[in-house]
Amino acid sequence: MAIGNAQGKHIVTVEGTNMQALNFIQQSFADEGATQCGFCTPGFMVSLAGLSLSEKKVTQQNAIDAVNGNICRCTGYKSIERAVSTIANKLEQRQQESAIDYAVATNILPAYFSQIKTRLAALMLPVNGKANEPLTPLRFLGGGTDLYVKEHDNMLEHELDFLCDKTHLNGILRQGNICYVGATAKVTDMLESPVFQQFFPWLDKYIKLVSSTPIRNMATIAGNLVNASPIGDFTIFFLALNAQLVLSDGQSKREIPLRFFYKGYKHVAKTNDEFIEQIYFELPGSNTKFNFEKVSKRTHLDIASVNTAISLKVENNCIVAAHLSAGGVGPVPTYLTKSSEYLIGKQVENTTISEVIALAQTEIAPISDARGAAVYKRFLLGQLIKAHFMVMFP
Ligand SMILES: Cc1cc2nc3c(=O)[nH]c(=O)nc-3n(C[C@H](O)[C@H](O)[C@H](O)COP(=O)(O)OP(=O)(O)OC[C@H]3O[C@@H](n4cnc5c(N)ncnc54)[C@H](O)[C@@H]3O)c2cc1C
Repeated sequence: MAIGNAQGKHIVTVEGTNMQALNFIQQSFADEGATQCGFCTPGFMVSLAGLSLSEKKVTQQNAIDAVNGNICRCTGYKSIERAVSTIANKLEQRQQESAIDYAVATNILPAYFSQIKTRLAALMLPVNGKANEPLTPLRFLGGGTDLYVKEHDNMLEHELDFLCDKTHLNGILRQGNICYVGATAKVTDMLESPVFQQFFPWLDKYIKLVSSTPIRNMATIAGNLVNASPIGDFTIFFLALNAQLVLSDGQSKREIPLRFFYKGYKHVAKTNDEFIEQIYFELPGSNTKFNFEKVSKRTHLDIASVNTAISLKVENNCIVAAHLSAGGVGPVPTYLTKSSEYLIGKQVENTTISEVIALAQTEIAPISDARGAAVYKRFLLGQLIKAHFMVMFP
C-alpha cells in the first residue's frame, strides 16, 4: 500500500488492539481454542477489530464475511467460526451508541480509540514546501492492489497521482437510466450501492467470487479496467454492460467505449497523461437480463480460469439487444462482437444457444497455462454461455 493512501488515517496494528487483560475478541479466540500455530491469528484480530468499528448492523453472516480475507492453514475454521459467532452476538446487542463507543465500553477495543478522531484532527497540519521534481513519469494510483503487487520496488521512483484523495471522483450515482461510476469508486462501494443492488439482484453472489473484503475495500473499478488483465472480473462485467469511459488529461476530456479500449496484451487506448474520470452505462430495463459467471481453480480468493458476462434485452422471446464478454480466452478482455451481433433477432431457444457457443469459439484464442489447458478453456466458455441462459431463462 502506498503511504499516500494512508494520508489522514490513523493506522492500528494488532499490538494497538491490546489492553491490560485480553480484549473481548482475543478472549473469544482463547475460549474457543481458535488459535493453533498462531500465524494467522493477528490477521483475524485486526479484521474483527475492523468489523467492530463498522457502523453497519452486524449479523452472523457479515461477521463471517469480515474474515474472508484471512486464511488458517491449521484447519481451525470451526473453532474460529464459533469465536466469530460469539463476537457477532456481542456486536448484535449494540443499540444507539456509536460503534467506537460500544466497542470501548464492552472491552472489545482499548479506550484510546475514542480519542483517535480528535487526535487526528490536531495532526492535520497544512502541507508546505514544494515536492521534488518527479524522477520518472507520473503514475495514476487507485487502491494500489495491482500496482503494488506487480511493481512494488519500482514504485519508489515514481511520482504518483493519488486519485483516491480526489473526493469529486468518488461515488456511484444514477441520473435517469444512466449509472455513473466515479474513478475512485471501490468494489465495496459498488456492493453497497443502492443502484447496483436494485438493478443487479445477484450482485452479492458475483462479488463474493472476487478477491476478499480487505482488497475490495481498497480496489477501484477503474483500476481493474486500466490494469487490462485478460481475466479482470469487473472488466468482463462492464464490457457486457457496454460501458463507456470518460478519459481526462486534466485539460480536455474524451469518451471511448470500453470494448474499444483494449489494443493488445496490457495495452490500452489512452495516453500516459489520461486517467479514467468516470465509467457510465445504461441501467438494464425491465426486459433486460444480465448474468456473470466465473470459474477458478478455487471458488473463493482466486483469479478466474474463464469468466464471462452477458446482457440481453428480450421482447416476446426475441433478443433485441445483446452484449457478451469473456475473459481468460485471449490476450485481452474480450467483447465477443460477432456472437453479440448474431444473437440479435434470434429466439431464446436451444439452437440459438448452440450456435452462439460455436460462433464464440471462432472469436477466442486461449492459451494453456496454470489456470487450464486451452482446450479446457474453450469448453468452459461454452458451458458458461449455457449457464448464462439457464440462469436468465430457467
Ligand atoms: C489478493 C488479491 C486478490 C485479487 N483478486 C482479484 C479478483 O478476484 N478479480 C480481479 O479482477 N482482480 C483481483 N485482484 C486485482 C485487483 O484488486 C483489481 O484489479 C483492482 O480492481 C485494481 O484496482 P486498484 O484501484 O487497486 O488499482 P491500482 O493498483 O491502483 O492500479 C492498477 C492500474 O490502473 C491504473 N489506474 C488506476 N486507476 C486509474 C484511473 N482512474 N485512470 C487511469 N489509470 C488508473 C494504475 O496506474 C495501474 O496501472 C486481486 C488483487 C489482490 C492483491
